[in-house]
Amino acid sequence: RGGQDLPLHTTQTLLTERPGLVSKLRGCIDGALHVLVESGSFTSTDCDEVQLPIFTPSQQARHLLDHVRSKGEAAARVLLQYILQNQEHASHLNQETWTPTEDCFKYKKKLSSSVAVQSCFLSTYGGTSNMTLDDIYTESQLELAHDCADVLGSLSLEDLVGIVGTLNEDADTVLVSGEAGCGKSTLLQRLHLLWAQGAALQDFFLLFPFSCRRLNSEHRELSVQELLFHHCCWPDREQDQIFQFILDHPHLILFTFDGLDELKQNFSDEHRHCCPTQRAPVPILLFNLLQGSLMKGVRKVVTSRPEAVGPALKKYLRKEVHLKGFSPSGIDCFVRKHHSDPAVAARVLESLQTNTALLGLCHTPVLCWIVSQCHKELLGCGEGSPQTITDVYLMILQHFFQHQNPQKTLRIGWMQEHLNTALHLGLLAFKGIGNSCYIFSDTDLQTCGVTEEDICMGFLIHSKDISSNSCKRLEFLHVTMQCFFAALYIVLNSAMDRSAIAKLFGLQGMSQTGMSSTCFMACLPSTVQPELALEGEAIAVETANLQITATFVSGLLSQRYRGLLLHCCSSSTIDRKIRQVARCLSKRMQKHFKSISQPVEGEKKSMHAMPAFVWLIKCIYEMQESRLAQDIMSKLDVQHLKLTYCNIGPVECTALAYVLQHLKSPVGLQLDYNSVGDVGVEQLLPCMHVCNSLYLRNNNISDEGICKLIAKVIHCDNFQKIALFNNKLTDACTQHFSRLLKTKQNFLALRLGNNNITAEGAKQLAEGLQCNQSLQYLGLWGNKIGDTGAEALARALMGNKSLLWLSLVENGVGNAGACALADIVKNSTTLEELCLTKNYITRTGVECLIQALKHNTHVKSVW
Ligand code: ADP
Repeated sequence: RGGQDLPLHTTQTLLTERPGLVSKLRGCIDGALHVLVESGSFTSTDCDEVQLPIFTPSQQARHLLDHVRSKGEAAARVLLQYILQNQEHASHLNQETWTPTEDCFKYKKKLSSSVAVQSCFLSTYGGTSNMTLDDIYTESQLELAHDCADVLGSLSLEDLVGIVGTLNEDADTVLVSGEAGCGKSTLLQRLHLLWAQGAALQDFFLLFPFSCRRLNSEHRELSVQELLFHHCCWPDREQDQIFQFILDHPHLILFTFDGLDELKQNFSDEHRHCCPTQRAPVPILLFNLLQGSLMKGVRKVVTSRPEAVGPALKKYLRKEVHLKGFSPSGIDCFVRKHHSDPAVAARVLESLQTNTALLGLCHTPVLCWIVSQCHKELLGCGEGSPQTITDVYLMILQHFFQHQNPQKTLRIGWMQEHLNTALHLGLLAFKGIGNSCYIFSDTDLQTCGVTEEDICMGFLIHSKDISSNSCKRLEFLHVTMQCFFAALYIVLNSAMDRSAIAKLFGLQGMSQTGMSSTCFMACLPSTVQPELALEGEAIAVETANLQITATFVSGLLSQRYRGLLLHCCSSSTIDRKIRQVARCLSKRMQKHFKSISQPVEGEKKSMHAMPAFVWLIKCIYEMQESRLAQDIMSKLDVQHLKLTYCNIGPVECTALAYVLQHLKSPVGLQLDYNSVGDVGVEQLLPCMHVCNSLYLRNNNISDEGICKLIAKVIHCDNFQKIALFNNKLTDACTQHFSRLLKTKQNFLALRLGNNNITAEGAKQLAEGLQCNQSLQYLGLWGNKIGDTGAEALARALMGNKSLLWLSLVENGVGNAGACALADIVKNSTTLEELCLTKNYITRTGVECLIQALKHNTHVKSVW
């Protein structure tokens, strides 16, 4: 384009058009930097400065614009030209014309009606209700895996395939990852239904849904064409023409793959396969589709549990999105949708409010579903309301048994009455878990003794298996239900190998990296040993399923259920198993503690949580034996516990607090980059007395959570530091911090960066500061306190004799603020560092500060 369309003073345009340019640049910072480097306008240091990982894409875009302006006219022209070209490219793509033939239209119609039929009902509602997906679907929290502050709150379904958050524009595959039961299949199902109803994703002419669980049973070699037509929808005529249309218009096609974790093979990109008409084993086809060698340009959405996604796949991802289950308002909305009687819904919600441990569990949709489904049991149980995941699954077990025979009231020995069903389904589940088998044939059922009566209980549902309609195949309502039955089998089966529990907890016959289900299967009596044990290394997901199973085993072998189990097994067997689990948990934890390295001199002894740590904590919580927690924690000797990026939500917080409250000496608890939220904060309260510092950066916490937290920690002598960078705090929380500062004269550090605190909030903090003589660090970087806020703080700090460090970076502070702060620089006998970068301070302000520095005795740096 030779630049002739560019305005005369391009640097000026960068200023006048700034907001528009920021939004255009957000998604293509890398591309822009690339052309700037190519043209010699930027060095790699410039790039590094723009791409600092602490910046959000918008912040990066703003820094990029500032940098380019400082480089002058030539750089500005390069950048503007790049943006223009990018836009032109995008509009070209949008305008591309395509004309499907009549047969293509017919095929689309057939495909969408079959997709609509398949996605209309949720499997959990199949037999028990005529509620459709439209009736019950509730938005869950969908967040980009990487930081992107421009996306406020949750992503929409359309954003999944849209431009937002794209990391790699050359890749086609979007990954939705989340734990079992967090709603991945349901999310895809919703996507399918909306497309089939013409309500969303209409840029895609054809959508092909696949389930990896079902693809496991496809043992033939197939071509892509066969895969699409056999597994999704068969074209009644002109197969080749329709396939050619697909090949010619990849950008009009969407593939979805549900449950990559359930595929029997791990993702690998060793076998390249590029030809859509040539046959290959289905996993190879799938991997090449995801990776982009096959059907490049076709958008693919794949869901998986996080364990199954390694670096080999990550490098081919367009973006990664975390599905985090329901938000607190999502729980509310779901419960109201689930109950047609608003009075019942209100009572269920009320009971959740009084049992926050259970409320925490309801963030996971599958648990929210169980709790709603079992509302009668829930509302009738008063004090004994469920606390643990095992409690919730026992409740649904009881519910289904009762459902079969509503006239009969369930007696204390209810488990014994249904022992056979529990053992039959338990064996089926147990074998399946060890074998990565989630769909069961008639033969599987027979081998495990599963009867028609067992099936009628409702725990097994018909598998929507398109490829093998002819034979009846069943699967568990949900994979977690399968884990629960496997656990029941381990607990209830008196003939269980004595080493099974040790193997389950990974203490016997396990490699360093994980547990092998193959060796776990060896616990089975030889008559029921599977023919098809998995070969080779244990797959991460098997480990995840074994871990869920172990969590249930811990819960079932709690003293609380001893009475229930006594109807089914001898007391000596139960007591032996209880002791075994306790011993295993204790040993695994000790192993973990032994791996903690000695601290570097002068530093705190710190423990970085290994992946299994949180799981072990959850098992201890499930057992509900505080003696055990106490015993185990008495052996942990650290000063700092680091659990960043550990996928910690409210449920994990409940378990952590349950266990950590028994620590002997106070620790720093670092929970940055998790999903603690307000409910999680509340769950952490019981362990705050053993916390001297709490780090909760990036955790979706709002004022409400802070209010409860401070009400507690204000009375905790040990509590001295808190970091809350990047949460959702506003001026509504500063009064609480102010009270904390006034009350706690041993409090040391308050870090509130990147929140929404304005001058009002700063004034309230100032009030607290005025009465405090202990605070050493105050961080307010990235708020909006302005001159008024800075002046208020400066006034409050006038006689202060403790503050060492103050950061007001990026706060809209001007000269008035700087001059007020200069007085502190002049007079303070403690302040060492003052950070004021990224404000509006000009020469006047700087001169004030320089004058002050002449009198200064303590300040070492002013930024
Ligand atoms: P995952 O695939 O992550 O294991 P599922 O999608 O199978 O989880 O969800 C399990 C159950 O939770 C569903 O069968 C349904 O009852 C409930 N559920 C999940 N997500 C939602 C949602 N968005 N709205 C309503 N119910 C949901």
